[in-house]
Amino acid sequence: MTTTPLSIEELGTRIEQVFAHAGMNPAQAGAMARVLTAGERDHCKSHGIYRIEGTLRTVKAGKVNPQAVPVLAPDDGTALVRVDAQGGFANAAFELALPELAARAKKLGMAAMVINDCTHLAALWPEVEAVTAHGLAAMVMCPSYATVAPTGGTDPLLGTNPFAFGWPRPAGDPYIFDFATSVAARGEVELHRRAGKALPEGWALDKDGNPTTDPEAALAGAMLPFGGHKGSAISTMIELLAGIMIGDLTSPEVLDYLGSTTLAPRHGELILAFSPEAFAKGRPGDPFARAETLFDAIIGQGARLPSQRRFRARAESAAEGITLSADEIAQLERFQRLGLDAV
Ligand code: NDP
Repeated sequence: MTTTPLSIEELGTRIEQVFAHAGMNPAQAGAMARVLTAGERDHCKSHGIYRIEGTLRTVKAGKVNPQAVPVLAPDDGTALVRVDAQGGFANAAFELALPELAARAKKLGMAAMVINDCTHLAALWPEVEAVTAHGLAAMVMCPSYATVAPTGGTDPLLGTNPFAFGWPRPAGDPYIFDFATSVAARGEVELHRRAGKALPEGWALDKDGNPTTDPEAALAGAMLPFGGHKGSAISTMIELLAGIMIGDLTSPEVLDYLGSTTLAPRHGELILAFSPEAFAKGRPGDPFARAETLFDAIIGQGARLPSQRRFRARAESAAEGITLSADEIAQLERFQRLGLDAV
């Protein structure tokens, strides 16, 4: 059963009220409400209101600081923009440090934002898109918790480690891709479990290391990386760059710290920003125009660009609002009424 559509703003306000009622300060509640609303708006259900429950559970368990005020380190003249999330959600820290990242990347040609001591349970595309809005190309990555077996292994070790890339397009929506380096995001396995649906072949192993399509068995066992050894290596790179290199937790360490995969993971995050003009300086051709030639050739073959589906969904939500199911509305009302007592 469906319900009356909510405007994007109405949904955002309701989610923010839930988080405020749960004791999150305005920076934390606002930043989390914005990314989860964006998930619903762009029809990314695995990173929309479905994440409210996990957010509240993590607050209730005391594994994230709902009152955190992120701290931006002073400019030390380098390309590193350091922000300490103070144990809060990554999104509030990202919002604080983004203008400095953009300014530094434009000045130096490239810059990196290092977020430490944060909890991250959102999609990465809102962050990568926000960097491209400054006319910069971007890469974003972070570990997760150990739920993925390396290719050839059987035990959870790597995280689902998301990786996103963005390229700014002056005349339209940016080119963005954003995916888990596991064969699918763990939220997708959970959504299959709730719907009583079998997983596609090749997503997971059970706890004895045998291939399984049973979501329960997969959640108790290990997921697999995408693309075999290639995804396994990219995921390992993310542990190295966005965990070890920035002095923060790797996915096995996150799991040790949390003791559970039902809470949102605490670790660090790495955001790289590049100025295409600075890199292409003195070389023939305008990088933005050349990129358009490439995109035209992709679309010209009948292929679509990543995120085109999302941008279409976004336009639809702006025109028609966001329709939630009756169950989802009831759940939202429950969260609004009960706050942390709802979880
Ligand atoms: P998907 O496989 O759903 O999508 C990956 C990307 O590929 C999207 O940009 C998508 O664009 C694009 N895409 C899909 N199909 C096509 C196609 N046919 N042609 C061109 N492009 C295509 O992603 P995942 O399930 O792996 O990940 C989902 C989300 O989970 C991500 O946003 C990720 O950040 C998040 N995540 C977060 C974690 C965390 O700890 N914070 C951990 C793991 C994942 P489009 O959207 O337009 O379809």
